[in-house]
Amino acid sequence: MIVEGIDDQGTIISIYDATRGATQGLHCECEAALIAKQGDELAWHFAHASNQSGACAAATKATALRFIRKVLEDAGAITLPEVDRAVRVQSIHSFVAEGYGDFPIHRVSGSPHPELAIVAKLKKKSSAQILERARAKNLSAMEIALHAFRNRSDAEIAEAIIDHAPRKWLHRVLNTQSHKLSFPRDIEKIRRGLGFA
Ligand SMILES: [Zn+2]
Repeated sequence: MIVEGIDDQGTIISIYDATRGATQGLHCECEAALIAKQGDELAWHFAHASNQSGACAAATKATALRFIRKVLEDAGAITLPEVDRAVRVQSIHSFVAEGYGDFPIHRVSGSPHPELAIVAKLKKKSSAQILERARAKNLSAMEIALHAFRNRSDAEIAEAIIDHAPRKWLHRVLNTQSHKLSFPRDIEKIRRGLGFA
């Protein structure tokens, strides 16, 4: 479902903030002109003006990337996969890169991992290729299993990304130097700050 349009200034407009129809001149991630469908029967969505299609892979991917990025930005941290029963938190300082092949991936800088790739698994598909790439580049990479949370509310998905969803290492770079520099972060405090009770 297409739920975001882009105006002439490049601003992202949610279907809930859009004007019904095509008067706003919004376009899709794939450049197609959009019509805002705000009826009573179906959930509000945009459709491509040309063929009335309400599905667009480019739009779906872009929306997922933006959503996950905003969650990570707002939290400024993410719970790392457990190692030896110890829970650690990665602080997120900045975004290095992002992309969407099979899964949305955000590469962030922070501590204790100077660079960390966060792979959000939205479907049950193998991440073996990503694991191979992370190994070859010797880049820390973790995956979060989000397929069970797809139909939850945005707030629940956000909480799942930051802390609740199952997560595991694809590749973990050990860096004693940065471990010494890292400081303990309180994930409960971060969760409260985000409004999670
Ligand atoms: Zn499109």
